Amino acid sequence: MQLAPGVHRVRPDSIVNSYLLEEGDEVTIIDAGAPGLWKQLPAELAAMGRTLDDVRAIVLTHGHSDHIGYAERGRRERGWPVMVHEADEALAKGEVKNPAKSPKLRIGPMLGFAWWSAWHGLLRVPPLTAVATYGDGATLDLPGSPRVILVPGHTPGSAALHVPIHDVVFVGDAMATYSPADGLRGPQVAAFSADYELARTSLARLEGLAAALVLPGHGDAFAGGIDEAVRLAREARLPE
Ligand SMILES: [Zn+2]
Repeated sequence: MQLAPGVHRVRPDSIVNSYLLEEGDEVTIIDAGAPGLWKQLPAELAAMGRTLDDVRAIVLTHGHSDHIGYAERGRRERGWPVMVHEADEALAKGEVKNPAKSPKLRIGPMLGFAWWSAWHGLLRVPPLTAVATYGDGATLDLPGSPRVILVPGHTPGSAALHVPIHDVVFVGDAMATYSPADGLRGPQVAAFSADYELARTSLARLEGLAAALVLPGHGDAFAGGIDEAVRLAREARLPE
């Protein structure tokens, strides 16, 4: 599904997102969602006029399994490098426990998420056996030239990826527009964060970016610009 010129989401629903970012005739994948999205990938690339051969790398916004998704498969079968912030390297490799704190739950949305997760292979995501790392402030030498902004709180190494040439920012779970825990929609601090207060404080790092379209790990794109998204997320309830 095209969200902006050169920016696609791998499937039409937005519960767990994986994005394709195009520059020239090459593609960077931002987050690999769930293992089950692998089979959707060729069709979404075809919708951009691209194939698996045009993909240069997978960049993860953080080390949670619902962002690692099909990344290990892409690394093994296609040789794609996979990158994550250095502070989330151990998490992405399954070497440390997920630091997430349980949010308040509502049974309906959680059952929906559990069903989606089972259906798309999220209950058994292979951890990465090798991952490259990036640091805060880096501009990655990949299609789209994403620039890294560390926004800790959801995880220690949570990063947003700013792509000025497309006027978008991929925020990972620094901010969500849908909560699988309680069903709330709109910009908000994401559920299953390690430190909800720190996540809210870190939103200040995103203010003032030139980014009309905000692309979260969970939920629909927000087209009102990053500053408005941050304002709304600060006002929304914290998930705990
Ligand atoms: Zn996460």
